[in-house]
Amino acid sequence: MKTSRRLPLLATVSCLVVACTDNSTTPTESPAARRVSGAGPYKHVFHGRGWRGPTGAYAPPGPMTDHGGAVMTAPKTYAIFWGTSLGTDPTFTADKMTGLATFFQGVGGSPYERILTEYSGSVWVNDTVLYTYLTLDSLSHYGFGGSFVDNRSAPSSDPSSSTVTAEVCSVLSINGVTPSQNGFYSVYATTPFDPISRICAWHSYGDCGNARIKIAFYFDLDNACSPNDASGLHSSGLAALANVSAHELSETITDPTLVTWYATDGSGEVGDKCAWTFSDPLVTLANGAQFKLQDEWSNKAYSGGFGYQNQIGEAGCLDGQVWPHVMVSITSGNSPSKVPTQQYCNWTASAIGGTPPYTLTWTVEGSNVTPLTATGPTLSAMEYTPGPFAVYATVTDAGGSTDNFLRDVRGSSGYWDISNCPQG
Ligand SMILES: [Zn+2]
Repeated sequence: MKTSRRLPLLATVSCLVVACTDNSTTPTESPAARRVSGAGPYKHVFHGRGWRGPTGAYAPPGPMTDHGGAVMTAPKTYAIFWGTSLGTDPTFTADKMTGLATFFQGVGGSPYERILTEYSGSVWVNDTVLYTYLTLDSLSHYGFGGSFVDNRSAPSSDPSSSTVTAEVCSVLSINGVTPSQNGFYSVYATTPFDPISRICAWHSYGDCGNARIKIAFYFDLDNACSPNDASGLHSSGLAALANVSAHELSETITDPTLVTWYATDGSGEVGDKCAWTFSDPLVTLANGAQFKLQDEWSNKAYSGGFGYQNQIGEAGCLDGQVWPHVMVSITSGNSPSKVPTQQYCNWTASAIGGTPPYTLTWTVEGSNVTPLTATGPTLSAMEYTPGPFAVYATVTDAGGSTDNFLRDVRGSSGYWDISNCPQG
């Protein structure tokens, strides 16, 4: 149905009246199709420094592309420490357990994670897939669930993803924690780093009860995969684990089941594209903690040519400490998340970088809607006629530089995107 109507305006807030249709997408690619050579199925590995793969690069050239899967907008990390020696080693507890908790507590809401807000996909909400074409808002939805120690023996060599999934399920069960699809379960093991395979860590997923959980496995990196942190703030082992954790977390957010964002041949996710690229000696997190963290890939920086160069000279890497160019994100949606027909839902956008002050402009487009524009940090809209439409936020900085942020709004059974409107 095509309908176009004039829309009412509310004071400084523009209103859109539209309804939703089911335009949900499903992944078209099997995870098994993304096997990394020598790593087995269902894993995405992060190789040590110096390993550049058969093509001579850490990842294929070119931008990240969207393969239609999900992203994680509200991941909650749990750290699991696996190995017989861990519970009796006070140095380990004070150093790595405390240090990684500080890292995970600080990365949520940090400028570092803001790099990822340009990626989008479907999301899980309350362990159910409700929305499609959603865009990541890790600024306000990230959390750290806590740490667990498992003193049972860790594998002596690289375990399968099913082995690690089973370990996570077991530890959660023992500790009375319900597995969640929004959980990112980072398993730090005493398993020695293998100088032949040179894998620092990997991420994958598995099924635990009714939940498809996201997992990562980290080898003992006390003498491997060092970012060469010269700050003196951390032990070498902690510095390596924090850097590799930033890589795996960022990739899990943007490619949680290996069917969402990656470069052309499936071996290059956001972390891989900027592996071993450090544009600052330290990255400051939201809680003030500092770690030496690799950059993450930004398609915007790459297309604009204003990122830092990766190992093959592509200027698409950012670490969130410096934003050479103004960038805008739609950073929040409505609360509560479902709004009945004919009531307003809201979006908020914010800009960073470039030269303040900023001017924010909104545009709403779609064959089924009346086009409208508005200015200011928020947009308000209402369900009206069926069909998908698009919401753009555009920022212009004092120097005249601009950036756009597109959020497709396509409902599934009456739900819209992470902007959370309406119920229909
Ligand atoms: Zn990776």
